[in-house]
Amino acid sequence: MAVRKVLTWGDPRLKINSSDVGEWTPELEQLVADLFETAIAEEGVGIAAPQVGVNLNIAVVDTSCGGDPAAQIVLVNPEIVHQEGSQLASEGCLSIPGIHEVLERPKQVRVKNRRRDGSWEEVEGEDLLARAFCHEIDHLRGKLFVEYFGPVKRQFLQRRYNKQRTTKE
Ligand SMILES: [Zn+2]
Repeated sequence: MAVRKVLTWGDPRLKINSSDVGEWTPELEQLVADLFETAIAEEGVGIAAPQVGVNLNIAVVDTSCGGDPAAQIVLVNPEIVHQEGSQLASEGCLSIPGIHEVLERPKQVRVKNRRRDGSWEEVEGEDLLARAFCHEIDHLRGKLFVEYFGPVKRQFLQRRYNKQRTTKE
């Protein structure tokens, strides 16, 4: 297993609409293991393959941040088939370090998900888990959470983000 380098805001590879996964391979199993390790190292509740430069419809979610193996969820070719209610909470992204903003998301979602063996299941998420599913599935469609905001707010966030990055380097 290895922690992979996470691409950051502005990288064009984060804007690609990723492709569905075909047959499951040892390389994909390795990718999944690396994604979990990277999410834990970066203290995130999830990460999508495009964030490490692999434009495939794979993402992992672990709302326990490595604390509970049972909380590890692997999303393969996922699709939200039902959503209900709404929630407001602060959201962040491993590709946009240092930026956290309140964003409205559905309270509950149901996701159609492909298991590694090729069969399909439905996974349900509520609150933080629902938010994580939506956030990671957006990554697979090339969308970052800051894109939900209007142009003025987005520019403000971009400036704050750039400033913070320059100070750091
Ligand atoms: Zn993200």
